[in-house]
Amino acid sequence: MVAQLIAQARKIVLKFGSNTLTDGEGKINPGILDEFAAQIASLTKDGKQIVVVSSGAQAAGRSTMGKWAQKKNIHYKQALCAVGQVELMAAWRRAFEKYGLHIGQMLLTQDDFGYPNRTLNMRNTIFTLLDGGVVPIINENDTVSVEEIKIGDNDTLAAQSAILWSADLLILFSDIDGLYTKNPKEFPDAELVEEVSDIEETRKKVTIGSPNSLGTGGIATKISAAEKAFPYGISTVIAHGSRPRALEALAAGKQQATAFIPEDKG
Ligand code: ADP
Repeated sequence: MVAQLIAQARKIVLKFGSNTLTDGEGKINPGILDEFAAQIASLTKDGKQIVVVSSGAQAAGRSTMGKWAQKKNIHYKQALCAVGQVELMAAWRRAFEKYGLHIGQMLLTQDDFGYPNRTLNMRNTIFTLLDGGVVPIINENDTVSVEEIKIGDNDTLAAQSAILWSADLLILFSDIDGLYTKNPKEFPDAELVEEVSDIEETRKKVTIGSPNSLGTGGIATKISAAEKAFPYGISTVIAHGSRPRALEALAAGKQQATAFIPEDKG
């Protein structure tokens, strides 16, 4: 089913969580970025358009400003992201330039989605970047996001971006193959839910455990992201981003995942 969704989609949003982009020590893993850049370049050649939503600014900042890593103060956290965002984009730029692709950075806040003139500008920028063959890379603008206006997790930001751009498909890459009946990190007998068409029903059947150390949203925000995208006819896939060439494996039907498919698309 996921292979079919990818084959049919022309406009795809790919969201990468911090856990997917970092190594065991919490540092950005250039090899992973390179692998995804290669796969995105190949999809682009097939006529698809890709928008990336990338976490990892804090993780990238921690490698550079180690002494700020332990600070709890919000100003230091925001400052850490300001440093890390540059590192993160530099890593993506190095990855994509090998495949002849430029990238464009878009830093957004929750507030931006509430103003029609801003959403129009955001839309126009995405369309213009893509028309020029540039890959837009979106992240939350942590420097201006204080708690009250924070989107808070990039799953939600990815869903809002997919809706804004009228995407066909949203793929949320995590460190897990999809939604399970319960947290597989705690319960080995947890079963993968492969297809969801009724989100309310599914919520009743699964138990949501806590997210990982680097993750902020957890599986609950991924379900909510799919729920947001549903009324717009956008399907959402939750997939493991650390499997070998995960995007290609999904497109070839060789990797399992969870697909949320709105009823009229099933
Ligand atoms: P990311 O940073 O990639 O967005 P998160 O750490 O925020 O990822 O969320 C994914 C994690 O949520 C999984 O690694 C898993 O341990 C946890 N989790 C809790 N309950 C479930 C569940 N029912 N199904 C799948 N994962 C779950």
